Amino acid sequence: MLLDCGLMFPDADMLGVDLVLPDFTYLRENADRIEGCIATHGHEDHVGALSYLLRDLSFPVYGSALTLGLARNRIEEAGLLDRTELIPVGDGERRRIGVFDCEFIPVTHSVPHGFATAFHTPQGTILHSGDFKLDLTPVDGRLTDLPRIGALSSGDGIRLLLSDSTNADDPGHSRSEREIGAVLYDLFHQHEGRRIITACFASHIHRIQQIADAAIAFGRTVATLGLSMKKNVRLAREMGLLHIPDHALRDIDELGDLEPGRVCVISTGSQGEPMSALALMASSDSRWLEITPEDTVILSSHPIPGNEFNVSKVIDGLVRLGADVVHSGISDVHATGHAKQEELKTFLSITRPEWFVPVHGEYTHMTHHARLAQTMGMAADHVLVCEDGDQLQLTDKGLARSGSVPAGYLFVDGLGDVGQGVLRDRRVLAEEGVVVVVVTVDSGSGAILTGPEVITRGWVYAPEAEDLLDEAADTVAAAVKEAFNQEATVDIESLQRVVRRAAGRFVNERTKRRPMIVPVVMEV
Ligand SMILES: [Zn+2]
Ligand SMILES: [Zn+2]
Repeated sequence: MLLDCGLMFPDADMLGVDLVLPDFTYLRENADRIEGCIATHGHEDHVGALSYLLRDLSFPVYGSALTLGLARNRIEEAGLLDRTELIPVGDGERRRIGVFDCEFIPVTHSVPHGFATAFHTPQGTILHSGDFKLDLTPVDGRLTDLPRIGALSSGDGIRLLLSDSTNADDPGHSRSEREIGAVLYDLFHQHEGRRIITACFASHIHRIQQIADAAIAFGRTVATLGLSMKKNVRLAREMGLLHIPDHALRDIDELGDLEPGRVCVISTGSQGEPMSALALMASSDSRWLEITPEDTVILSSHPIPGNEFNVSKVIDGLVRLGADVVHSGISDVHATGHAKQEELKTFLSITRPEWFVPVHGEYTHMTHHARLAQTMGMAADHVLVCEDGDQLQLTDKGLARSGSVPAGYLFVDGLGDVGQGVLRDRRVLAEEGVVVVVVTVDSGSGAILTGPEVITRGWVYAPEAEDLLDEAADTVAAAVKEAFNQEATVDIESLQRVVRRAAGRFVNERTKRRPMIVPVVMEV
């Protein structure tokens, strides 16, 4: 049983990489054993890789109707809907899937209708928290089902808990999503008469609801901007999870004659994604909106680690255009979707697991979560911090490590994947540039027939460095002659080596740099 199948977005040093997938080798090798995938909720880091895995494998996907609706988009785009069956399951439903006896327990998170999953096994109950927080006043009133989890715990007990560690190093309690509604209402009040443009995650239906509520309360019409925002708003309205009356919702291209003070745009791009609707506004490249000093932009989000630079660049662009920008550093316009320390402690004290494995988050977060459990009295040898690919086995004797499986990353660029070698090359090209040396030699006499010609991008700016390039060519020519002086015949690989070494040494001695050297040697 697969539990989620997500993707990551690339770091700045993963040059040209569009997205990062988990290594599917182990799943491919065990394809005939896969019963299906449980999608705990609709975030990309939990369902985004399904459209890739389904190319190779075919299996059903179980999840709440909204989760499946969100996952469906990418699968459909990839033309893979016939490779899977999307099977909706309800809150509290218990269902047998192959040998697995699964129970779907509601949890609150930053996308509606997420699940914790209980697996009832001959080795006792295994509880996976999913991404969760303990929001006691969620916008839709759908609470994390602590009574049910408590019943599992006080019944036969929870043998093994796997729990979300994302905010394990954050003290205190996360704020309720509902509090953000009041903050937004105040902001809309303060900025009456101005055009308001907001940005948040397109899957954060409750945030979108609260923005729309504030907008409508002040007589504004809501317009979505960005493809995923438009799609998700339509999906959530169809499912009855988002309530915006028809008359208060328009397409961005239908705003036409509305006064700025009667408009609220809800846009994608809250993480500063370079080609997103908000980033295009910030660089004056949006075909829909031109930012002016009459605008207020509210970023109802918090940058995910790694996105800080992009977000601050977008904010800077907006401020430069005169906009009044409100973000999580200025006002409480965001609440996290992940439990903080006090919630994690509550969860541990309710579940009282015999064994505990922190999951989800960086290694630091999982370690913090492990320590948290120990401060609450859990024995250190009953808490296992694992890394990607680690295998665990739960038997009569307890939980034990049992080896590991391949679990690297797959870097996707365009349609195909690129390896570590390609990324290394890209880093050298990005940081040092490239020098190509082309030379043709007579393999019999060793005479140089054409070249050496030295071509570069990114080492020196060629039109301003002719002398240096000529000198480089002379140095390579001398090295080639020397090679033929020492031996009567020189094969092409050796010549390439000679050219690379001579050019590389020259470049390094003269400029202290190490660009990629590409020797192109032709023999006639
Ligand atoms: Zn997540
Ligand atoms: Zn999530």
